[in-house]
Amino acid sequence: MNNCTEIAEPELGRDGLDAQESDHQTSLAKRFEGALAHCKVETECLDNRLWDELPERERTARLIGAMGSQSKAARYRDCYVNAIPVDCPACLEKYFSRYSCTLRYCEHCGQWHFSRLMRKYREPISKLIAEGRRRGKTLAMLTFTIRAYDRMPERDEPRRLLQLVRKLFRALGLPDKEWGCIFAVETGHELAVKHPGRKAEGWNLHVHALYYGPYLNWSDGIQRWKELTAGQGQGFYIKQCPSWRRDPERAVRRALVHHFGYILKPAAVTAERIAALEVLFSGIRRVHALGLFYRLPKSETPIPGPRCPKCGHALPLNLRAWHKSERVPVSELEAEGRRDWRAVKRELGRALAFGGRAP
Ligand SMILES: [Zn+2]
Ligand SMILES: [Zn+2]
Repeated sequence: MNNCTEIAEPELGRDGLDAQESDHQTSLAKRFEGALAHCKVETECLDNRLWDELPERERTARLIGAMGSQSKAARYRDCYVNAIPVDCPACLEKYFSRYSCTLRYCEHCGQWHFSRLMRKYREPISKLIAEGRRRGKTLAMLTFTIRAYDRMPERDEPRRLLQLVRKLFRALGLPDKEWGCIFAVETGHELAVKHPGRKAEGWNLHVHALYYGPYLNWSDGIQRWKELTAGQGQGFYIKQCPSWRRDPERAVRRALVHHFGYILKPAAVTAERIAALEVLFSGIRRVHALGLFYRLPKSETPIPGPRCPKCGHALPLNLRAWHKSERVPVSELEAEGRRDWRAVKRELGRALAFGGRAP
């Protein structure tokens, strides 16, 4: 079957479903379905290939683009495979630095997000707890769930859920300066194999929180959660962090590793789901803070800048603000004899660990 007449109009081919205004009434799930159908036809007609033959990253990028975020799509495409050249000003060694798209669900950028969040929260939170009065308090992981979805949620649904969690904390009437929490909204995991009887295909939205403060009353919490969500609220779970009083620093680190851990886990199995998640959470801050954890003092540990692995001199690199035109394919840079400075650093580290000499 040939659907190519459908994309004969060039403007339809370029920006896909661009008219966000007129799509207002259409659900996000429907728009996404439409974008996917459109991408498939376009791939068959313009590339003369089947959608499933495209590399996964390309599929995700095309879908993100078709949903209206062309620059995000370009960033995702360039991540890791494009880089910028950099020369060490001291020893003149020639390197390149791989581009990071910093998209939420990018497999190459998970570690970057994880380190950034740990740097922001670990030290200030453990300091705050270690210096505070611990009697009558708890450090706990909380989970808030709502009834499962059987489709991709609307864009305002994650935001609404975050808003409800805020309201809940306000309603609990906790004493000022005695409590704090950070929380994040996420979806369930997409399964590689569909389970019969499992609802929502992993689209169930829920909120995880790390809470520190006076003990919470579970039955009060679940009742308020059900009220706030107009009966949509399913569950409210409290799990105290083990031995947090004895070793707050360790407990906070473990809790945060757990809390931010989902960032490192692949959030999705398919390229299409990664695109859908990227679209759904676009513009929503990842971690939200309340009470004592809002406006935490900055961590005092300095962020190490990029350094030449051979001579230790600072590399003149701006790790984030690279314009698209500055990104060059890694293959070209390698052909010039340049090397990935991070890879060289790892190699040197390994050589030293085995007692060998630097290459
Ligand atoms: Zn150098
Ligand atoms: Zn990336």
